[in-house]
Amino acid sequence: MHYTSTRNSQHRVTLSQAIAQGIAPDGGLYVPESFPHVVPHDFPAGASVPALAEQLIAPFAAGDLLAEFLGPITREAFDFPVPLVPLDAAPSPASVLELFHGPTAAFKDFGARFLAACMQRIPRRSNKRLTILVATSGDTGGAVAAAFHRKPGIDVAVLYPKGLVSQRQAQQLACWGDNVRTFSVRGTFDDCQRMVKEAFADAALAQTHELTSANSINVGRLLPQMVYYAKASLELWRESGKRPNFIIPAGNLGNSLAAIWARHIGLPIGEIVLATNANQTIADFLDNGEWRPRPSIATLASAMDVGNPSNMERLRALHPDFAELQTQLGASSVDDIEIRNTIRRDAHELGQIWCPHTATAAKVYRRLVSRGARGHWVIVSTAHPAKFHDIVEPQIGHAIPIPPELAKLLNLPRQETEIDTTLAALRAGLQQS
Ligand SMILES: *Cc1c(COP(=O)(O)O)cnc(C)c1O
Repeated sequence: MHYTSTRNSQHRVTLSQAIAQGIAPDGGLYVPESFPHVVPHDFPAGASVPALAEQLIAPFAAGDLLAEFLGPITREAFDFPVPLVPLDAAPSPASVLELFHGPTAAFKDFGARFLAACMQRIPRRSNKRLTILVATSGDTGGAVAAAFHRKPGIDVAVLYPKGLVSQRQAQQLACWGDNVRTFSVRGTFDDCQRMVKEAFADAALAQTHELTSANSINVGRLLPQMVYYAKASLELWRESGKRPNFIIPAGNLGNSLAAIWARHIGLPIGEIVLATNANQTIADFLDNGEWRPRPSIATLASAMDVGNPSNMERLRALHPDFAELQTQLGASSVDDIEIRNTIRRDAHELGQIWCPHTATAAKVYRRLVSRGARGHWVIVSTAHPAKFHDIVEPQIGHAIPIPPELAKLLNLPRQETEIDTTLAALRAGLQQS
């Protein structure tokens, strides 16, 4: 199996090369050159999540040096539960796929932990220590820091905008120490991203550090996200012989693209509907075929505040024909008022407490059902509501119990360095040991 750039099908690399590079030299994203084909009966009932993951990902690693390590990699990465919970009080058949039982209580743990387990096994280009540089506006930095914490030979540097993430997110970014350096930058997320780009281009840093990124466009974060769609769809298909439909909170489209790939290779997945917040680039595009990226708008579902979703490039590579693409997925946009109302209503009527991101999917479920949609719907829950207690608690009127994994992190001391928005400040921070 080879991977090619979305911008040049002649540029071919192996899986470990695609993971190590992150982005193709021409600025394109890596996609599998061809997709394997599976049938539901290939997968034994009752398999553990790591065993299912190993079987599912094996064809994507065929011929690569990572192939022989997929057993230990998947056991290391998927060491927490992925429950599919029936939503008994719902107006029509529905379940919740809970993706928030990992160390940082959001679905990004799946991708980050798989990526870390892979990177650890890819031989270095030099004997310099490898440093993963991440600019984060919230969840990604925490998941990456947690995944790489204490991995031998790898350092992590996380940059986040001081005062612009939630208290609990800031704590998850700064509680690590050891091989993780956290920089609270006196600026915005855009400043953090610019500083990371400048660091990659800096000759002085290149002398001392082998720098790489772990952002969501890395194909090593997408492949593992297919695993939970495989698990949930196979479980429901075995029960009913029917394909369940999925509603997915979407920002950069990484999570959604994994579902689309999972269906494309033959897993029993029916409709895929994306739920977005007030950032409507995707919903508008599916409506009228015009791709109009725009600056992002701040919403309550902040991890989905994306005006120019980068994975669109992969989606269009898979379905170049717009009319065909339109038949492959739907999208519906949910504003902040609807997010608040859904959190309040579903707490009372369904006994479910949603995070603001999951609430967009729950709202879209209500819309679909009121328009007569049939079948079994899976609401994909991307984060634990306790991460966003300041938004959720006023709506439900009581405190949300904190899951033990999250509580552990919230009690650790914070270790971070405050820096200015300059490359010099970042360089000094990185070079100081
Ligand atoms: C990142 C994130 C999303 C959006 O996922 P994409 O892969 O960017 O579409 C949704 N919900 C939560 C909680 C997230 O952290």
